[in-house]
Amino acid sequence: MLATMDAQGHRRWLEPTLTKGVWWQRRLVIAWILIAVYAFVPFVEFDGLPLVQFDIPARRLIFFGTILRPTDTILLALFTLIIFVSIFWLTAIYGRAWCGWMCPQTIYLEYVYRPLQVLLVGTRRPATPRSGAAWRYPLLGLLYIVVSAHLSNTFIAWFVGAQPLTSWIFKSPTEHPVAFTTFLLMTAAILFQFGYFREQLCSIVCPYGRFQSVLLDRFSLIVGYDAKRGEPRGKRGTTSGHCVDCSMCVRTCPAGIDIRRGLQMECVHCTQCIDACDRVMVTLRLPTGLIRYGSQENLELGTRSRWLRPRVVIYPLLLGVLITVFSTLLFMRTPIALTQLRIQDERVMMESTGEIRTPVRVRLDNRTSQSMRCEIAAVAPDLLVAEATVLLPAFGSADAEVIMRSEASAFAMGRRTAKLRVSDEHAHQLDAEVTLLGPMTLPPEKSGRFFDSQPQKTGGN
Ligand code: SF4
Ligand code: SF4
Repeated sequence: MLATMDAQGHRRWLEPTLTKGVWWQRRLVIAWILIAVYAFVPFVEFDGLPLVQFDIPARRLIFFGTILRPTDTILLALFTLIIFVSIFWLTAIYGRAWCGWMCPQTIYLEYVYRPLQVLLVGTRRPATPRSGAAWRYPLLGLLYIVVSAHLSNTFIAWFVGAQPLTSWIFKSPTEHPVAFTTFLLMTAAILFQFGYFREQLCSIVCPYGRFQSVLLDRFSLIVGYDAKRGEPRGKRGTTSGHCVDCSMCVRTCPAGIDIRRGLQMECVHCTQCIDACDRVMVTLRLPTGLIRYGSQENLELGTRSRWLRPRVVIYPLLLGVLITVFSTLLFMRTPIALTQLRIQDERVMMESTGEIRTPVRVRLDNRTSQSMRCEIAAVAPDLLVAEATVLLPAFGSADAEVIMRSEASAFAMGRRTAKLRVSDEHAHQLDAEVTLLGPMTLPPEKSGRFFDSQPQKTGGN
């Protein structure tokens, strides 16, 4: 049964007691560094671009001066794999360090929302208000709304960039209804999460906790209870175990679990129970570390942690290969990319001379920080009816349409490939293949008739 539910399946509200020990102080430093990163990254520019932006409206990912578009399939797949393998590696060594130390859910709940709650109303729910403190609840609600609105704006900035967001903030919502609605919905979702749903996100919604059983091995670092030393538990002097069954580790746990039952899915490795138990041990003049960071082998058998293990070696090797391939492909990327697009109701025309004219629609992507004036021509022996000129802003894209001329005899099984050459005033040049569909056979009576076309193709690395 989940710690946040009772036997009837009702929500059991947790009111953890904050323990400000050594580990809490360490996490505090990292939490505020990450909060600063989260808040300021959308406002930082690199090479004329946002440092990091998930630019969904323009369908691109901007990452330290590099733009990845949906057509960069391999690079995007490698990038995703690099993130996943890094998390797997981190988990294999340090357990759920992500959950306890870096996840925005833990950081904002434990270092922003809960401290505000403790400051104004203590750890009790509104059902049991402190006497004479009724005015504190509306104030807490107001602060929650302000912080949630700020987080919502910051979150949106990661997707649209700082400039549009700043201009929206100072304009009437009627001028940007979609963005404003997104802001309201996002603020409500954040408020719901941090004001009500809280730790249930980790135990019910997030899949990462469930993955931990396959990502961890018996030598991974976890927060664990030393049962050899702690048991049999009981009042001091009545048993030989060091655990005095004071329940401080349970009362401080924001996941509501008892670490003495062993490794559990709900444990986010926040280290609060380490701080609480160490405080008890110091008071009792016993050695600290009854609850500590250690591997399962170390906690259960007292063996030393083994750092050299198959998964700890394989993950970094795999990561090295992925990063090398990713960097090489990135380095080899051409400054211009060409993608062949489908044309709605496209028609291929056969002239009375037997010549086939095929319209070809392409999207050009400028991957540099300079604007470009691109000329589209055909590579001999192919021919265009007319060459096209396309202006591309820095890191921008534009579509163009050209008509290719072919001899009907050039088509085999109704299709052929041709080459387009894109060049600009900066001496960049790209030759890219496009696919042309044409007649399967050459009946003279087909002169002037139309045929369907045509698949999508991408040029440039
Ligand atoms: S058991 Fe300890 S480390 Fe795990 S969530 Fe609870 S307090 Fe944090
Ligand atoms: S805080 Fe330490 S001594 Fe107290 S119940 Fe937990 S493990 Fe036992």
